[in-house]
Amino acid sequence: MAQLSDDCFAFGGPMMSVDEAVAIIAARVRPVGESETVALLDADGRILAGDVAAPLPLPPFMNSAVDGYAVSGADLPQNGDRAFPVAGRVQAGASAQPVAPGHAVRIFTGAPMPSGTDTVFMQEDVRIDDAGNVILPSGLKLGANVRPAGEDIARGHVALASGRRLRPQDVAVAAAFGLTTLDVVRRVRVGVFSTGDELAAPGAARSEAQLFDSNRFMLMAMLRRLGCEVGDLGILRDEQAALAAALKQAARRYDLILTTGGVSTGEEDHVKAGIEQAGSLVLWRMAIKPGRPVAMGIVDGTPLIGLPGNPVASFVTFVHVVRPTVLALSGATPAPLQPMPVRSAFSYKKKSGRREYVRASLRRAADGSLEAIKFPREGAGLLSSLIETDGLIELAEAVVQVVPGDAVGFLGYAELL
Ligand code: AMP
Ligand code: MG
Repeated sequence: MAQLSDDCFAFGGPMMSVDEAVAIIAARVRPVGESETVALLDADGRILAGDVAAPLPLPPFMNSAVDGYAVSGADLPQNGDRAFPVAGRVQAGASAQPVAPGHAVRIFTGAPMPSGTDTVFMQEDVRIDDAGNVILPSGLKLGANVRPAGEDIARGHVALASGRRLRPQDVAVAAAFGLTTLDVVRRVRVGVFSTGDELAAPGAARSEAQLFDSNRFMLMAMLRRLGCEVGDLGILRDEQAALAAALKQAARRYDLILTTGGVSTGEEDHVKAGIEQAGSLVLWRMAIKPGRPVAMGIVDGTPLIGLPGNPVASFVTFVHVVRPTVLALSGATPAPLQPMPVRSAFSYKKKSGRREYVRASLRRAADGSLEAIKFPREGAGLLSSLIETDGLIELAEAVVQVVPGDAVGFLGYAELL
């Protein structure tokens, strides 16, 4: 599958900033460009493949916003109360008869406004006299408590634009238009490998020097949340030729290949060399912590991202490199993550020139504002640090230190995917 142009360049020099790297990847990734029609409910979380314009106005007709009495604006009481004969009754879903001047109509929320009326008095604000007339007070504005046709969405307005990642409220709009299906981009197919002789698959026998492979399952779960179709390609051993062959084979079946582990400079890190053998390396060193080495390459036109092996580094680089790549492959409107400003309750020092992510929990300070507490340990291998915190504090390249009270940007785990 050819999603990438072939004019790649190897990058082995200085570290590349996260933004530069993501821009390079985004520029080279071509959207999969195929769509499918799905039932409304199945469209949640998918990427809309074409604009959806309103085939009718919302609301479709002028209706009452409250339970009460409808009258003509020309008859509104000016100085003090005025009695109106009640000329009829219209409930939601019923059709309304025209109303003569000087009359009121009993009306309920959602019922169509009878012709000859344009204003509704709330039932709480009126009285009924002994003769059965409704007594309406002065002071109400013409058009009060009425929802005009199209006040929500005008006919023809593009309410849902192509590239939108659909949420439950978007599905509601499509349903309000009377649609039963939506055209969405077909799921991006991603093949996931773990690499490392020390890994045993959960369920398989584990030798003394092995640990169970956790990254593959984390990454596959993250990909699912992004709406991908995930291919579990198992564990590759630390052996370059076999690795290159496996990458080449996967390139034929997937839109994107993801690996974890083996991207550092160690003698037993074979992913970079494996990419170079199977295809070409586009970039490799990225100024992000935890993370650092992240490889991006192309194998027979299919993009490949090699994430680091340490679980936290793998998680963080997924969010900042894989997520934008998957969105670009699906033709989604770019959705940069927006850190929420919170107050730091911790001190931290960092090198300038690289972006860092600090695992943190939020708590409510005495004055009611949110403050971030740093996880006490920093190891990139600590899975506990990801489950015992609420999200990541983003520290920009230029920052060199944080002191308690500083404003910092917080990205909650729930918003990352
Ligand atoms: P590497 O990037 O291959 O040097 O691995 C760095 C660290 O991450 C090592 O301690 C590995 O054992 C660990 N690691 C690598 N891959 C995985 C994985 N799939 N699941 C859990 N830990 C891993
Ligand atoms: Mg390894």
